[in-house]
Amino acid sequence: MGIKEFIGWVTLKDLRQGLGVTLKHLRRPVVTYPYPKQEFLAEERWRGLHTLWKDENTGLERCIGCCLCEKICPNWAITITTSHADDGKKVVDEFIVNAGRCLYCGFCAEVCPVRAIRQSTDYARKVHKRGDIILNKKELLERGGQD
Ligand code: SF4
Ligand code: SF4
Repeated sequence: MGIKEFIGWVTLKDLRQGLGVTLKHLRRPVVTYPYPKQEFLAEERWRGLHTLWKDENTGLERCIGCCLCEKICPNWAITITTSHADDGKKVVDEFIVNAGRCLYCGFCAEVCPVRAIRQSTDYARKVHKRGDIILNKKELLERGGQD
């Protein structure tokens, strides 16, 4: 240890420098959210929990069961079950989004040709059981709207 380092060690130079940085930051405004005490309001473009939308003119579900969203999902978070009605039309029987697997990449909403699946600004899904993280068609439609 050189004389310079020795004097720094004796006079607690490192400690004083560290405390100086702490004191400097104490006076700065807090930039983090004390969530959940203070709610974080997400921006419009936020890619949060999914929703399924209906057509406001017909009241029918927008989803046509093309399964593009299911195919493009990189983490296999979407499962769609379809069948055909008597008139030959495709019917979406079930639409599952496993929010636990979802990466919130937004590919599914981007690829949808009829804007049926969209992501909301809702980011808080608190569940106690792993299975409850899954969103089914009924809940997805309730979370969505009509336009
Ligand atoms: S946001 Fe991405 S990971 Fe999540 S369901 Fe859509 S495509 Fe899959
Ligand atoms: S949500 Fe869109 S992409 Fe997915 S199956 Fe329905 S119409 Fe196709």
